[in-house]
Amino acid sequence: MIIESNKVVSIVYDLRKDSVDGEIVESLKIDQPLVFLFGTGNLLPKFEENLNGLKKDDKFSFMLKTEEAYGPVQENAIVDVPLDVFKVDGQVDHSMVKVGNAIPMLDNEGRRLNGLVISISDESVKMDFNHPMAGSDLFFNGKVTDIREPNADELKHGHVHSSGSCGNCGDEGCGSSGHHHHDHDHDHHHHH
Ligand SMILES: [Zn+2]
Repeated sequence: MIIESNKVVSIVYDLRKDSVDGEIVESLKIDQPLVFLFGTGNLLPKFEENLNGLKKDDKFSFMLKTEEAYGPVQENAIVDVPLDVFKVDGQVDHSMVKVGNAIPMLDNEGRRLNGLVISISDESVKMDFNHPMAGSDLFFNGKVTDIREPNADELKHGHVHSSGSCGNCGDEGCGSSGHHHHDHDHDHHHHH
């Protein structure tokens, strides 16, 4: 069996940014692989392209340039959010609203985005909504640990049901809680 559309693929990898010996920003271990339904557009297209056709136990090593990954840092994704937005009963929770914290936010269309707090003034919070890996070349180094056929529900929903039930698709017959391991990739994709 090889990696191709509509196979459930498990991989582990180290992800470094900016150079081959750059900072490791993500490291997946054998017992916690990334498991995904290949070819459904949930992951970066170039990422899938580099895995296409590989077999179980194959190793891979490839680079995604910024434009193939999360794109350049967008200045207009850095915005001032009124402090009022963060007030609950007239109070700002400063354990959450503090410089360096990433806070889950909703945009105008109800999509979830993480905003990184850059600075806080009396009236507003400057937040960066760029993807944490925007502006970086990404270097993946890893191994294919499993390839299998999807079950009927997985195929229908277009994603993997990791523990026998659906984490977040909301379809009938699916579970209703929990997050997919790679939420950030997923969210970002739909942001485009
Ligand atoms: Zn589902």
